[in-house]
Amino acid sequence: MNKKIVIIGAGITGLATAHWLKKDGYNVTILESNSVVGGSMVTEKENGYLIDFGPNSGLETSPLIKTLVDDLEIKDKFIYANKAGNKRYILRDNILHVLPMGLKDFIKTKLFSTKAKLRLALEPFIGKSKDGFYQSISDFVTRRLGREFLDYAINPFVAGVFAGDPDKLSVKSAFPKLYRLEELYGGLIKGTIKGARERKKSGEKSKQNAAMFSFKDGMLSLPNALYSELQNDIILNAAVTSVIKDENIYKITFNNNGVETTLNADLVISTAPSYVASNIFGKMDSELSNHLNNIYYPPVLVLYLGYDKKVIGHPLDGFGFLIPSKEKKKFLGALWSSVIFDDRAPDGKASFTLFVGGARSPELFSDDNKKLIDEVVQEFESLMRISGKHEFMKSKFWNYAIPQYNIGYIEHADYFAKFEESNKGILLGGNYTGGISVGDCIKSSEVLFNKAKERLL
Ligand SMILES: Cc1cc2nc3c(=O)[nH]c(=O)nc-3n(C[C@H](O)[C@H](O)[C@H](O)COP(=O)(O)OP(=O)(O)OC[C@H]3O[C@@H](n4cnc5c(N)ncnc54)[C@H](O)[C@@H]3O)c2cc1C
Repeated sequence: MNKKIVIIGAGITGLATAHWLKKDGYNVTILESNSVVGGSMVTEKENGYLIDFGPNSGLETSPLIKTLVDDLEIKDKFIYANKAGNKRYILRDNILHVLPMGLKDFIKTKLFSTKAKLRLALEPFIGKSKDGFYQSISDFVTRRLGREFLDYAINPFVAGVFAGDPDKLSVKSAFPKLYRLEELYGGLIKGTIKGARERKKSGEKSKQNAAMFSFKDGMLSLPNALYSELQNDIILNAAVTSVIKDENIYKITFNNNGVETTLNADLVISTAPSYVASNIFGKMDSELSNHLNNIYYPPVLVLYLGYDKKVIGHPLDGFGFLIPSKEKKKFLGALWSSVIFDDRAPDGKASFTLFVGGARSPELFSDDNKKLIDEVVQEFESLMRISGKHEFMKSKFWNYAIPQYNIGYIEHADYFAKFEESNKGILLGGNYTGGISVGDCIKSSEVLFNKAKERLL
């Protein structure tokens, strides 16, 4: 318990890890380069609109989320998505089609052709593939479910989750649960049925069945509540530049408002993005540094728009829509933010969050994105049958948005494990390990906590 732990980064992974360690009586210091906590979680309020520029919601896939909310005493701020949020649209031939969620709707939908529907019936009879780590999600889905299902279900879904390119993402690294269905049960349909029984026993929920949550004041409420609890243990504006090993102690050097300072620790938990960790650990292991630097984070522009409800022609009755690559639009999709959660827009107004770029189209951006934004707004307004001008607009450009678990990721992950094995005082975490969603990051924080305890015994 007297051992000193330093956590690098005060995003949700670092903060939640610190929370579990503190709760167990450990001595923790968090170093955060920014002047605020939250990392990818960024909420702003302006003109009566509540804008989440990072995650708009989380999925309650694990009981850990409730435990965290209870521990922080923010139950009164925790909210679930409105029922309308269950309905999702996908664009095909310039028409927004409801994504079918049950068999009856699937048979009726015009989103897929009859041929594609019949092809799906073959899925239980298709054999296992050999190499999941080196197989893209595109190859996996085309083989099991057919090309049309890839184009009009998985391609837009991958854009919605990873802002990713399905030809590049490794099925086993990026969608381990999906791959497991094939590996363990021999197919997706069989596996979904059997897997549901297993999850019921463990209390875990699949992403399709988990409830969507946020907070009355947006997603930043969670890191802010963690900050309130941990503020005496957090140093803000502290950009870590290097970690080196000195016998059994680790020396962490950081720049705090221009002053270089070094802390000693028995255990260092890094939750900074991989391209930052690459520099931090460069002096210790250049091969690790290369692996960390080779994880791709595509750029994403988040565009938030507010309109008077009266000018919107399309019914506001869903989560939003996703756009398959084949539809050749300038953006990936739009969340109907004020439909999903209450109090996201002033009375009588509706707000939307649009995503542009990602791994599918990083080349769209230039030094001046004004023309691109105008084109996106025009496309969006046409799809939503909007007859008036937006009353509110704000955007945020993420130069390095979301780590891609692309083919070849397994080599990086193997090296991370090897490095941790030979450096018992260092743990590598954050959203480039263990999954990118908020729920995954919270689950990873528990993994980091357990590993830390084991290492400090
Ligand atoms: C636009 C966008 C939309 C998203 N939408 C969703 C969604 O709807 N649902 C969902 O579940 N997930 C979503 N995600 C993913 C999810 O938000 C992130 O994966 C998650 O929040 C990452 O948390 P983290 O703590 O691992 O990393 P980060 O949030 O990146 O935190 C890392 C921290 O390290 C700090 N840091 C960096 N360098 C240093 C340094 N040298 N020294 C000290 N500290 C440093 C950073 O400032 C940051 O605070 C989205 C992400 C983005 C970008």
